[in-house]
Amino acid sequence: MAESGSAPRVFMNVDGSVLPAIEAKISPLDHGCLYGAKIYETVRILARAPFLLGRHLDRLERSLARVFLPLPLSRGDIEAEVRRTIDGVPFDDAVLRITVTRGVGPIGLDMSLCREPRLLIYATELLPSSVPAHASPRGPDGGIAVVIASLRRISPNALDPAIKSGNFLNNVLAFREARLAGAQEAILLGQEGFIAEGTTSNVFLVRGGRLGTPRPEGILDGVTRAVVIEEARAASIPIEERDFLPHELAGADEAFITSSVRGVLPIATVDGRPIGLGRRGPLTRRLQELYEARVEKELALAASQAKRSG
Ligand code: PLP
Repeated sequence: MAESGSAPRVFMNVDGSVLPAIEAKISPLDHGCLYGAKIYETVRILARAPFLLGRHLDRLERSLARVFLPLPLSRGDIEAEVRRTIDGVPFDDAVLRITVTRGVGPIGLDMSLCREPRLLIYATELLPSSVPAHASPRGPDGGIAVVIASLRRISPNALDPAIKSGNFLNNVLAFREARLAGAQEAILLGQEGFIAEGTTSNVFLVRGGRLGTPRPEGILDGVTRAVVIEEARAASIPIEERDFLPHELAGADEAFITSSVRGVLPIATVDGRPIGLGRRGPLTRRLQELYEARVEKELALAASQAKRSG
């Protein structure tokens, strides 16, 4: 693992060769490069095993279908390329970005002129500093600062946020607002002013022992979000999916964000004001524990399946 403080190493699988990303060659005429015409998934790799790869590939296929982009390889071949990538990098913990681009075509908007879609798999080393310590139930009781972005989440009538595409400017500009405020995440509201999601995360809040999260319409249906909902239901924690106004987040007892990279991460403040006691609350911690136990279970299951088939 690289020294803490140094930049994470990035490798890429291009046409089956895994090499440092800096040496990879991609055409500037790929419509992924020209128009952001690409679909991707971000998968957490722990001890060289992908977490919930099947669910990520399901969402990849759903996103591809919505933008009329075919799968460049069979699902089995994509899984094999994921394995090749993990085997080809010199680190055990990583974030994998499985990307399908529209492929090379003439400059212009006609997607039918693009020759063939391309699979690119990026593997970024996950340094201990990349995931905040309080993302673990054993870590300190802190939390992150978030802001409510002035930019609204792009309307599902314009470009459905359920499509995980490389067309990410809405989120990139909102994240800038977080950085300018010294915060770690920006939360976007939807067109009607309800809480939608973070720039790369989903949002949960706790009020009076009940868990709440925005409805899945108009947001990315996060893999981690789904796992947290499943675990909460299995543990008989009451949960509601509905519209939430920003003042409900500000007045919550606890809140947290979820993502494949950060897991369950408590929110301490919103727009500079503390949520609840301004640190991780007991239900957030319980869900972190349930999430970690689920990660262990899924990885053990994947390892035993790999042993049986290999
Ligand atoms: N919402 C957005 C806009 C995202 O980009 C992401 C992840 O990158 C998420 C939510 C969280 O999704 P997941 O839990 O599948 O990582």
